Amino acid sequence: MSEITKERITEALKSVKAPGGEVDIVSAGMVSEIVIAGSNVMFALQVDPDQASAYEPVRKAAEEAVSALDGVEKVMVALTAEKKPGEEGGGRQKKTPQPTAAQAPGIPGVSHIIAVASGKGGVGKSTTSINLALGLASLGLKVGILDADIYGPSLPKLLGLKQEPEPDPENPDKLKALEAYGLKAMSIGFVVDEATPVIWRGPMVMSALQQMMHEISWGDLDVMVVDMPPGTGDAQLTMAQQVPLSGAVIVSTPQDLALIDARKGLNMFKRVNVPILGIVENMSYFICPNCDTRHEIFGHGGARQEAERMGVPFLGEIPLDPDLRERSDSGRPIVATEPDSPHAQAYRQMAETIWNKLHTGETGRRSMPRIVVE
Ligand code: ADP
Repeated sequence: MSEITKERITEALKSVKAPGGEVDIVSAGMVSEIVIAGSNVMFALQVDPDQASAYEPVRKAAEEAVSALDGVEKVMVALTAEKKPGEEGGGRQKKTPQPTAAQAPGIPGVSHIIAVASGKGGVGKSTTSINLALGLASLGLKVGILDADIYGPSLPKLLGLKQEPEPDPENPDKLKALEAYGLKAMSIGFVVDEATPVIWRGPMVMSALQQMMHEISWGDLDVMVVDMPPGTGDAQLTMAQQVPLSGAVIVSTPQDLALIDARKGLNMFKRVNVPILGIVENMSYFICPNCDTRHEIFGHGGARQEAERMGVPFLGEIPLDPDLRERSDSGRPIVATEPDSPHAQAYRQMAETIWNKLHTGETGRRSMPRIVVE
């Protein structure tokens, strides 16, 4: 079998024309860093964000050109676009997608998929996702975490993981999910450089997300936790429609502003008929390490009241804690590295509540039997 090299791949990509048909995608400078993992090849095409859908055939052609090379088994091509100055990642699509009635196909072997979402960034959604996932794992469950925050993947940092996914020897069509702290994990950040600012348009987000769900060997999982991109724009709505979710957890700080956003998040899931598993109030209060006094910086309790008002469960509160931040930001999530701390206990408690709802079918929807494909 011929060795797969970047040169051979680049050569093959020269046969693919950029839209307009004049130059090829290599000469047009569209091809990103090429990642080779065994017989698997991954790269991105940088495209004009305003013409994302026009590039889909180009993406396909690039995928086919590389797939045809001797020795290549699997090719993952994503479309990315440089962020224009001043633009936010989420919710930029102008067209509202029509809600689809059809349920998204499940992932074979995965019993439940839950989303962790927030109305805006910076409220601790990713920190909550990872610690809830670890809390679920501590119940003896098989758990995976999928970082769907394509705009700003944080899983590599949260888990302290840098390596690229490797081909699955048992299933050469797929890449193996990475593993850390007993969790299976996948993030676009394992493939695309974290520091590269990229914009993903609706179709690109979905293709990246679909690939991460269906072209990764997740094995058998009781629960897959999906760390959603922040916000309630169309990209998030599309995801909520197209990922077969058993339920959603909303993370909010107690501030009014965050709660307005959290309400949007709740409504988004309600619109697409995904049950709300509950609200988590993060950065709820602060216990001063010097004076041991409790400070309610953001006006604690807002999320609990909001949950009551909306008639959805309140899952619990996590204080603002410098140690939690430090651990989270250095790849040592608190539930795994300080399991006896009150915060770890709080996360485990939330995980237990969530699991009870899931496996008793209290969510009333999309509780799928585990299907194992031989
Ligand atoms: P999001 O996913 O909502 O953008 P992150 O989970 O990335 O938020 O958290 C944003 C920042 O806040 C990170 O530096 C994280 O460590 C920190 N953080 C999250 N929750 C807490 C908390 N309860 N106490 C202290 N810092 C926190």
